[in-house]
Amino acid sequence: MINNSINELHHGLLKKDFSSVELAEYFLSRIKKLNPSINAFITVDEEKSLGQAKLADEKISKGDLNPLTGIPIAQKDIFCAKGWKTTCGSLMLDNFISPYDAYVIEAFNKAGSVNLGKTNMDEFAMGSSNETSYYGPVKNPWNLDYVPGGSSGGSAAAVASRMAPIATGTDTGGSIRQPASLCGLTGLKPTYGLVSRFGMIAFASSLDQAGPMALTAEDCAHMLNVMAGYDERDSTCINRPKEDYLANLDHSIQGLKIGIPKEFFDEGLDANVQKLVEEALNEYKKLGAELVDISLPNTSLAIPVYYVIAPAEASSNLSRYDGVRYGYRAKEYKDLMDMYFKTREQGFGEEVKRRILIGTYVLSAGYYDAYYLKAQKIRKLISNDFKEAFTKCDVIMGPAAPSVAFKSGDKKEDPLAMYLQDIYTISTNLAGLPGMSLPVGQTQGLPVGLQIIGNYFKESQMLNMAHAYQQKTQWHKMMPEGV
Ligand code: GLN
Repeated sequence: MINNSINELHHGLLKKDFSSVELAEYFLSRIKKLNPSINAFITVDEEKSLGQAKLADEKISKGDLNPLTGIPIAQKDIFCAKGWKTTCGSLMLDNFISPYDAYVIEAFNKAGSVNLGKTNMDEFAMGSSNETSYYGPVKNPWNLDYVPGGSSGGSAAAVASRMAPIATGTDTGGSIRQPASLCGLTGLKPTYGLVSRFGMIAFASSLDQAGPMALTAEDCAHMLNVMAGYDERDSTCINRPKEDYLANLDHSIQGLKIGIPKEFFDEGLDANVQKLVEEALNEYKKLGAELVDISLPNTSLAIPVYYVIAPAEASSNLSRYDGVRYGYRAKEYKDLMDMYFKTREQGFGEEVKRRILIGTYVLSAGYYDAYYLKAQKIRKLISNDFKEAFTKCDVIMGPAAPSVAFKSGDKKEDPLAMYLQDIYTISTNLAGLPGMSLPVGQTQGLPVGLQIIGNYFKESQMLNMAHAYQQKTQWHKMMPEGV
């Protein structure tokens, strides 16, 4: 079971090689064994998981099933799940039991999947190393001294260590692709608006998107089939016909044009990562694709622009945590104002407070035009760069992250160094484009990811490109030692 794809698990369930309850028990026992050292899960509730598995077994015996029925999944703790503690990695929500399901949770429940638990994450999804969680850092299963990336590092570590076959993540500036890259997984951030954000705790609403994290592109396609869909409870969700993301997986990629942005191969890129990414690009040439040089001239502005826009939106979104309606409330205070201050002082961690301070500052009267408005204008320029690039190519490829995983603690005290982890991913969030990462090699025993960026709603084509590579290579099958 340990390395089985969704298709293989599905067939095992159909042939009665194992039941959904047995499958859930298998992964729950792996969580028991491995989670104490990896810390990928914040909440595990065996009773709830096995209850869902029993229901799935009933569905399967009645023939009422789809490929995800009875398949265990780990859910990032940013998704509200009814009856489950939903913390977003923060003390602020440590006591919050969600009264309702997020769209994504609802969709997997409807499909009959089994929730194995809620995964650890950087607090309010702010971070690139999973060291800002109130619940302690997550460890990279490839080497426990290293970070798994963030903010979906718990989900990435859970799948990489085979505590779960698949997991959900969210990506505001790179939080699916960077941890996928650092943990050797395939992860996809969809086009903005493809997956409803309803019930997904908001960080920066114009950038946040949920997506799949798995071993293969094929499994991501299965998951996207469940996750993508229109939902009127998210006003930014786009109403378009449902697609089958498995349909094009086996298409030939002969003649497809891959744009290589020169700005993605600058001095900030680790030489070993560059070498492995170039080898992967060569593999694509062998598969019949054509490489074309392109330019995304505003790439270097993406991080400064993101660190105006994302904190601005976060400062507004996080104003709801005031100790009044739900979540943490300071124990001792003098009056209402004091209660607000103490609650937010105690309930939020350092990185979250840093973002709220920056966000409040750039939105304040007198500074709005200089920072926020200017950032929005540059955001448009970044989108235009992609528009221009896509007149020359079908997809864009480059590294997902500038380096392999780094040692825990190495960048913790240096926010700017941490922010640079997303240098190659952030511009797609600003433009609303889809992006994915897939494993294409290892250096010093740590995985390296290749990023594929597609045009709007071209997830199918990106998955086709990733699948073609995975039919020829074995990197997605590698498993860390000792798990
Ligand atoms: N690392 C980025 C940040 O800290 C992106 C996080 C994300 O995508 N959720 O904001």
